[in-house]
Amino acid sequence: MKKFALLGYPIKHSLSPLLHNTAFKELNIDANYKLYEILPENFEKEVKKLLKELDGFNITIPFKERILNFLDVIDGEAQKIGASNCACKKNGKWHGYNTDAIGFIKALKEDINPKNLTVFVVGCGGAAKAVSFALAKNNVKKIFLKDIDTQKAGKLKKRIEKFYPQIPVFVAEDFSGIKNSQILINATPVGMKEGEMPVPAEFLHKDLYVFDLIYKKTPLLKEAQKRGLKFQDGLKMLIGQAQESFRIWTGVEPAFEIMLEAVNR
Ligand code: NAP
Repeated sequence: MKKFALLGYPIKHSLSPLLHNTAFKELNIDANYKLYEILPENFEKEVKKLLKELDGFNITIPFKERILNFLDVIDGEAQKIGASNCACKKNGKWHGYNTDAIGFIKALKEDINPKNLTVFVVGCGGAAKAVSFALAKNNVKKIFLKDIDTQKAGKLKKRIEKFYPQIPVFVAEDFSGIKNSQILINATPVGMKEGEMPVPAEFLHKDLYVFDLIYKKTPLLKEAQKRGLKFQDGLKMLIGQAQESFRIWTGVEPAFEIMLEAVNR
């Protein structure tokens, strides 16, 4: 039996085992997917052990950057982004990929093509890195980056400009850039709890598309709905990155519907 896993902290509520184990069963693949919740201080020791035991794994918060030091070959996109959320053992070597970027852009493009549009991204952590590189690759007009930590936003701006110098990237001090944006993305965990808003509601103008990476109807999305805006939560992105990880590991892409049904059930 092949062994796959999710490494992260905290990850108790992750949907990933459900998505992958359902697809393994459906496609008659003898494999299993488990959670390994690893305390940050034990990361190095635990990863070294798991690299010997596993055939492939996903990596999530807060290890998407740290994992790069333990992999042998990093795919071009993951290298640019500077983070990997998927690793696969091939001929004894560990290869790292970023499937968050693929999952995100696939989900976004089902609703809206970001080409030549201005995008405002709130949060500049691991997920925002994948999101903003996917946007840059898809020729957006302009990117605003807003984080409580402006240094973090500045670092991400520099990284995007290094690979996509033709795309203007601005570190936002406030939310005024949303007025000139057509897409708003929440890449912070703000909204996991009721009443939390990453952006004041008055900035949700009528021409804005809202994408919240959190996979539930957050207060931000409820507000967007109330105002008649188009929006989506992070579920399609989550399934998209899982489909792509699964394809990298097995060579087969499971149907979106199989994974979606599992979540809905
Ligand atoms: P992360 O690395 O912790 O990044 C979040 C960033 O947002 C941090 O820099 C954080 O700053 C910042 N932040 C927090 N509150 C903020 C606020 N009010 N305004 C501006 N910035 C703020 O987390 P992540 O891995 O990028 O994940 C972010 C969210 O995306 C999580 O909710 C995660 O579940 C979701 N996600 C979804 C998918 C999917 O497939 N749908 C994939 C990946 C992630 P501090 O560090 O200073 O708090």
